Amino acid sequence: MSLNDAAKTGKIAVWWDMKECPVPEGIDAHRVRPSIEGGFKELGYSGPVSITAYGDQKQTPEYLLRALSSTGVAVEVIRPQPTELISATNKWGKNYAATPEYATAKIHVWWDMFDCPIPDGYDARLVRPSLEGAFKELGYSGPVSITAFGDHTQTPKRHLQALSSTGIDVAHATLGVISSRIFDDLMEWRGRITTPATMMIISDGVEELIAKLQQRIKFNLFWAYSCRPWTMSVVLTSAEWLWDSLLAATKRHVLRNCSASVVESTGMFYCKLCYTKRTLLDKFIKHLSSKKHLSQEGCITDRRRRAKKHRLFWLKARVSFSKEQAVEECSLVEEL
Ligand SMILES: [Zn+2]
Repeated sequence: MSLNDAAKTGKIAVWWDMKECPVPEGIDAHRVRPSIEGGFKELGYSGPVSITAYGDQKQTPEYLLRALSSTGVAVEVIRPQPTELISATNKWGKNYAATPEYATAKIHVWWDMFDCPIPDGYDARLVRPSLEGAFKELGYSGPVSITAFGDHTQTPKRHLQALSSTGIDVAHATLGVISSRIFDDLMEWRGRITTPATMMIISDGVEELIAKLQQRIKFNLFWAYSCRPWTMSVVLTSAEWLWDSLLAATKRHVLRNCSASVVESTGMFYCKLCYTKRTLLDKFIKHLSSKKHLSQEGCITDRRRRAKKHRLFWLKARVSFSKEQAVEECSLVEEL
């Protein structure tokens, strides 16, 4: 059974804010449940549906409440504050066990170290076993490849060494371009992989891009972030984690194994500004301080600064144009 098949017969929970979306006048409240279920069935979802209606029920006519209850819609008598509704959705299970299709499939991880850095005092050799441990808990045991994106002129050499010694690839990208470089890499990887595979994003900021991509192609997605989004995400994930808890969960368990791990470098070192790669850490560090690299980084920064200025110019022009237009229209009205 694929992930989609499982989702299509799985339970569906509905949280309904009756203040923002009331039962329209003239609509029989008995029809709410069948209408919702009908909508799901049209899309192929046939699992059991539970519905909870939140609203200021003192204002809701009794016949409406009776009609809802008689069709199995749970009615919350006191309307929760938005934060209460959010905490209800936070508890909603997000981590699903692996389906056979994905249990032994490849997993590739794109890690944005700006949003989710290595915590102070944390042994960077634990990143890979922490991720693999979390995947295994859900039944995923396929080979894991990881690319750590960040401004590696700022990453301590001991971290780069530690990451590389556990087979993590390192990719240099500055703050202004990191999201686009991750996205390009992800698209390129997706184009190469023909068998079922899982993609994992460790970042706070690529949600919109991923959501757009998911509208075009279906894929199994894991997501880790530094803090949980305060609204429910539009991205469809099979598992989500808080970055710090993900790293902390397996810390004690893996420490012993890690102390004996290999120390030589097995990951690659990429510069995503110059599109070049090195196999040795020292050569990579040398590249990041080379004239060629610094000039490329300067060009990219200048280009971005010019683009920003250009956008600001047109934004200001638009605002002042609308002001002039408003003044002109006012004088026309006065003339009349
Ligand atoms: Zn470079």
